[in-house]
Amino acid sequence: MSDEHAILDSIEAFLRRDVIPYVHALEKSDTWPAEIVARMRDLGLFGAMIDPEYGGLGLPCATYAAIVERIAREWMSLTGIFNSHLIMAAAVQRHGTPAQKREFLPQFASGEIRGGLALTEPDCGTDLQAIRTTARRDGDHYVVNGTKTWISNGIHGSCFALLVKTDLDASPRHRGMSLLLAEKGPGFTVSRKLEKLGYKGIDSAELVFQDYRVPVDRLIGGVEGLGLKHALSGLELGRINVAARGVGVAQAALDQSVRYAQLRKTFGKPIAQHQAIALKLADMATRTEAARLLVGRAAEMYDRGVRCDMEAGMAKLFATEAALENATEAMRVHGGYGYSTEFPVERLYRDAPLLVIGEGTNELQRLIIARQLIERNPA
Ligand SMILES: Cc1cc2nc3c(=O)[nH]c(=O)nc-3n(C[C@H](O)[C@H](O)[C@H](O)COP(=O)(O)OP(=O)(O)OC[C@H]3O[C@@H](n4cnc5c(N)ncnc54)[C@H](O)[C@@H]3O)c2cc1C
Repeated sequence: MSDEHAILDSIEAFLRRDVIPYVHALEKSDTWPAEIVARMRDLGLFGAMIDPEYGGLGLPCATYAAIVERIAREWMSLTGIFNSHLIMAAAVQRHGTPAQKREFLPQFASGEIRGGLALTEPDCGTDLQAIRTTARRDGDHYVVNGTKTWISNGIHGSCFALLVKTDLDASPRHRGMSLLLAEKGPGFTVSRKLEKLGYKGIDSAELVFQDYRVPVDRLIGGVEGLGLKHALSGLELGRINVAARGVGVAQAALDQSVRYAQLRKTFGKPIAQHQAIALKLADMATRTEAARLLVGRAAEMYDRGVRCDMEAGMAKLFATEAALENATEAMRVHGGYGYSTEFPVERLYRDAPLLVIGEGTNELQRLIIARQLIERNPA
């Protein structure tokens, strides 16, 4: 049996035993799933893509994407708990100093320290160069002031890759941006939990920094001015992850619909035999399969170390729109029951919209794709 199959088998067992029986209640009560997180630690998911040298599983992106898809089919929120953590870890693994890698990666891999990425602010998300959080050098510390919002794992996580301005006058603006590893401590507070339409269970929070002091050796890579570059390089992986979540949600909506369309009868036959419903099922299945292929291609390029921002953008764009469309169609297939909180399609319908917004909106993905098209095909 290949390593990939062995890992996917253990994920399957984990989902059946520790997740599926509990999702409905945890989701409805918006409860952070402490026991599931403990099992995810045991499975090594918090170190899934961290080098074995630092205690991680060192999985290729393609295998990781298959895991994300499978888990998102059952409960998308769980994937967010380790996805953004791994993007923070990837920033350290790719760009950190040897000392930062030695100190942090083993603790990230074991899940002893968990966290995520803190980029977005109340006034800006897409236009990251407009951030206002500042880090002023004071001896061997930076003094950070500002507010970050929508930060996944903000309450239960303890360490974040924090995007700050170290030089307010830099031109272009990104040359004044840096990424710090910020661990919770005096001056770093969670001001509130943010309530959401879906994506329940995982904590989304606003973080406030008030004269928060962070040692200068927590500047990722040790050189100021590279923060945006480092943050964006992690987003390539982030986009493949979100695309894989999209495939999982699209597949879940399809699975529910294929099952229900055979059980529900109208006018003397299962609704699957009405052409209007059959056409929906065919479109849903085709979208899901196409999305999976795009994710696979982007992941394979990522694993080869080839530039894949356009391919990751295409996968993210297509797979997340597929999730949204399939969730809507699943609701139609289920008729009135699709609107019931007792059926899972209602949850898919609330979870899917986040995918078209997070990790770079789909409008932004289109701009990235178009820019790359021109760059790769000069007239
Ligand atoms: C549940 C949830 C979890 C999140 N988790 C995190 C996290 O862990 N860490 C983090 O840092 N952030 C996180 N975010 C924030 C998320 O990344 C941002 O919401 C997203 O990047 C969009 O930014 P914005 O909300 O400021 O929208 P804006 O940037 O204000 O955009 C508003 C609209 O304008 C469009 N738009 C903006 N600029 C352009 C342009 N140039 N051309 C065309 N259209 C444009 C956008 O596509 C969008 O439709 C999360 C958000 C949510 C909802």
